[in-house]
Amino acid sequence: MIFATGNKHKLREMRELLPEVELEPLPEDVELPPEEGDSYAAIALDKARAAHAATGRGAIGDDSGIGAEALDGRPGIHSARYGGEGATDEENLEKLLREVASVDGGRGAFYTCALALVEPDGSEHVFEAHCEGHLIETPRGEGGFGYDPAFVPDATGPDDMRTYSELSQAEKNGISHRGLAARLLAEHLRAGIASETQ
Ligand code: IMP
Repeated sequence: MIFATGNKHKLREMRELLPEVELEPLPEDVELPPEEGDSYAAIALDKARAAHAATGRGAIGDDSGIGAEALDGRPGIHSARYGGEGATDEENLEKLLREVASVDGGRGAFYTCALALVEPDGSEHVFEAHCEGHLIETPRGEGGFGYDPAFVPDATGPDDMRTYSELSQAEKNGISHRGLAARLLAEHLRAGIASETQ
């Protein structure tokens, strides 16, 4: 199956999350459509449809991002380019932390991931999941990517203040927005295989 992303961090995470699926990167000559959808699900589906149309193979598209409660859910679907076209992860994170600090409304935040599956026969499914937590003022930790060094998930427990960047990949996968969405997708694939073998 093709995983329609240009982001190698996401491909690595997805390969760990879906070990039963042989995931291949998008062929280099296939271009993903511009992100014009107005929801995570619509954007993920556009990516999966483009990969399926270009290859004829089953394809998974993903879209994800982070939303701050004090900013009414921004940056949301604009997470990758929040600091402007070509902004680095550090610049995006810096902008988010600056904005959250400048308004009242607390430091609550949530990641969202939508995974869209287009099966070889063209049938379509979307799986969406969230991970709630809060943003700390000073980023820390080496792992992960994007906004991870400032995000402390609730799911590790009230006494655990590690950021997504300070969790092992396995710990992150166990609770993350992408991990939860991937488990929904895996259940769907397993149910399909089970019904085929009955
Ligand atoms: P897209 O899904 O490629 O449009 O971009 C998602 C953007 O959201 C990434 O570039 C990151 O900035 C952010 N993001 C999504 N998932 C994660 C994650 O697991 N950790 C850190 N940042 C993430």
